[in-house]
Amino acid sequence: MILLKHPNDLSSFIHNGSIAHNSIGFVPTMGALHDGHLSLIHTARLENTLVIASIFVNPTQFTDLTDFEKYPSTIEADILKLEKAGCDILFLPSVADMYPNGSSPSQQYDLGHLDSILEGEFRPGHFQGVCQIVHLLLETISPGRLYLGQKDFQQCLVIKKMISQIGMDTSVIICPTQREPDGLAMSSRNVRLSHLERKKAANLFNTLSYIKENILLEDLENLKQMAQNILTEQGFKVEYIAISKAQTLETVQNWDGKSTLVALVAAYINQVRLIDNLVLN
Ligand code: AMP
Repeated sequence: MILLKHPNDLSSFIHNGSIAHNSIGFVPTMGALHDGHLSLIHTARLENTLVIASIFVNPTQFTDLTDFEKYPSTIEADILKLEKAGCDILFLPSVADMYPNGSSPSQQYDLGHLDSILEGEFRPGHFQGVCQIVHLLLETISPGRLYLGQKDFQQCLVIKKMISQIGMDTSVIICPTQREPDGLAMSSRNVRLSHLERKKAANLFNTLSYIKENILLEDLENLKQMAQNILTEQGFKVEYIAISKAQTLETVQNWDGKSTLVALVAAYINQVRLIDNLVLN
């Protein structure tokens, strides 16, 4: 695996090697890699000649400075994992090299309601920051395929929308959420959970599963309220529980029984914020 740190080195490598756009698969990450990230690398490995991963903790997508500062970093272990998973290039830029003219946004992306609901409501500006960095990375790499995890369901819709807006010819491949044996979605933030918090954290997935099991039996508003009560009783501080159309994330009040639904949740266990989602039908 080749490690490149400067955007110019990465674009020169790609251009000098005359590597075809449609043979490049790209997996952007913020590091502290786990099997969820590696599943994206494995899928990209099967479908591309060149697999590029990036590790960059992007300051402009954090709304909480403490969250940014406490974001875990395990770079040496990450390098070994990527190499083993068959990644060809690791792009590891610095903040200064990624944002040589400062990180103030040069453009506002029109994300419609996706910018202000769910994650957008509780992390204002988050998705503009995500689009800013993913746009820069896509310009540097110009991959034919971009690999994202369903774990960040809303982010997948946002990035798809951004790509169609900037008119890039990159397909988005959404990979299923990888979970621990008790159902907890793998996340870099899980390492911040104490032993007791870690045990509790599985209830997030159990609650989503409860919604899925009862989707035909209960009124959706009641079901959300019941799910909220379960989590609150277990000591979670719930930010949102939503049952939405999977295509658009519009809230569903009266389900037509046909459109695909997804339940999404964000909740804190003490200081650690976790998100998860489950497609319901
Ligand atoms: P992050 O490092 O958290 O920015 O995540 C990088 C990519 O890995 C994103 O596309 C995430 O959606 C994806 N990802 C994170 N956790 C998981 C997981 N448990 N399963 C599948 N993909 C994941």
